[in-house]
Amino acid sequence: MSELCTSFINGGWTSGEGAERIPVISPIDETLVAEIAQADAAEVDHAVRAARKAFVAGTWRNAPVSKRQSVLRRIAALIREKVDVLAERECANAGLPIRQIRERHVQRAAANFEFFADFIGQTANECYEQEPPFLTIVRREPVGIAALVAPWNAPLALATMEMAGALAFGNCCILKPSELTPLEFVPLFELMKEAGVPDGVVGLVNGSGPVTGAALVGHIDIDVVAFIGGTETGRHIARAAGGNLKKYVAELGGKSANIITPQCDLERALDAALVSIYSNNGQQCLAGSRILVDQSIAKDFIDRFVARTKNIRVGDPRDMATEVGPVISRAQYDRVLSFAAGANILTGGKRADGFDRGYYVSPTVALAEDNATPLCQEEIFGPFATFLTYDGIDQAIEIANQSEFGLVAYLWCSDMPTVMRVQDALQAGTIWVNTPLARDLRAPFGGYKNSGVGRTGGLSSRNLFTEEKVVTMPMQDFPIAKLGLG
Ligand code: NAD
Repeated sequence: MSELCTSFINGGWTSGEGAERIPVISPIDETLVAEIAQADAAEVDHAVRAARKAFVAGTWRNAPVSKRQSVLRRIAALIREKVDVLAERECANAGLPIRQIRERHVQRAAANFEFFADFIGQTANECYEQEPPFLTIVRREPVGIAALVAPWNAPLALATMEMAGALAFGNCCILKPSELTPLEFVPLFELMKEAGVPDGVVGLVNGSGPVTGAALVGHIDIDVVAFIGGTETGRHIARAAGGNLKKYVAELGGKSANIITPQCDLERALDAALVSIYSNNGQQCLAGSRILVDQSIAKDFIDRFVARTKNIRVGDPRDMATEVGPVISRAQYDRVLSFAAGANILTGGKRADGFDRGYYVSPTVALAEDNATPLCQEEIFGPFATFLTYDGIDQAIEIANQSEFGLVAYLWCSDMPTVMRVQDALQAGTIWVNTPLARDLRAPFGGYKNSGVGRTGGLSSRNLFTEEKVVTMPMQDFPIAKLGLG
């Protein structure tokens, strides 16, 4: 019998009895690894009520900052301690290479809690004294109950970013992970309880987006929604949250340009271009999936990129040596390979050799004719790199910006005036210059255009998860007009 993933409400797991079951299929070998007991609207309501009760009781929101810090740090320590079980489970249902889960995702999950523990010990609120005799202070209170909806491509790392932010500022929260990746959240919620998070303060509901996700984000007693996922789903979230007049943040898809200029360390640019597209099995919002190379260096650069791509170790993600594992699902496998049809494929574009089961796509390189093709406009979300050549930096900027997305952009260039001009012209929330995939959690992260609404990280998360309250008082008596005295 496979494991049954149920809801975590008020500090315990529900039985799942009578719930609709959703199979969880391993992308590694297409076997059944678990089933989800889908939370319907009634169960979601139960979770929201438990969270509201905990919020009103105030044990967490009124706890001193030092207490919340110690619980968050304990969660981080337990995550690091339980790296084996967390990584094995994430690998089993997400198919991400275990080395990347162990060394990046689990560490990032722990770092999210540590970061926000430190952050709440350092932030201060504004105070205004410009209008004597008045003193105006800005207080911040937790918003209330946060609905957190997460994707499957980096389940632990991304869900914990949302949870750590919500909890740090005193909120209660309910997570709805992707229905494709419920497994790692079982030990995560158990360790949060062990770390001392009071019952009801964190909840988990499992199920599909249209059923469980929609019931959660549309629940009238939810105060704030944090969503990470695809752009189309983001529109549903925005409608649901906006319809209830609730705050929300949406971190959505990307089709990011990676601009390689002749004035750069080409060896480093090559290493980084490979990492930017092929890590996480190519399934990352911030992938450098449109690689723009100056005509003068294009042939040499693309040839070397293709040679390295052919050498990538595709394999069982449970093997520490594997560099690229399977994509998440049959649907994603079919979708990724559909982009190869009719394209100028330089390598890959087919099932990876040596696998008769599992969703293994051979790392793929395509050369596009122009930026208008679906290869350059759609988020493929797999180990699929698309090259375009450009003639001069102005054309590179134009191509980079011709996209509905604007999550990140990469620039490889050592000429400072060019760097300054290009970073200014690019329409993206993050510009990585001569560096791949570096994130400072204090800095705001989010996208331009259809890549998102709002930001998270540091002060942005504080703004999202707190309500501001302005209190004004006089420091000395002052004249008040005397109405009604005749
Ligand atoms: P998705 O939009 O299909 O699903 C994301 C989550 O939303 C899942 O938990 C899903 O069940 C839920 N959901 C779906 N429909 C819903 C609805 N109507 N109401 C409420 N919830 C609903 O995305 P995915 O396929 O899981 O993830 C991949 C996408 O996420 C890619 O587009 C990727 O770029 C994006 N992403 C963005 C970021 C970022 O920070 N910008 C990070 C990671 C992934």
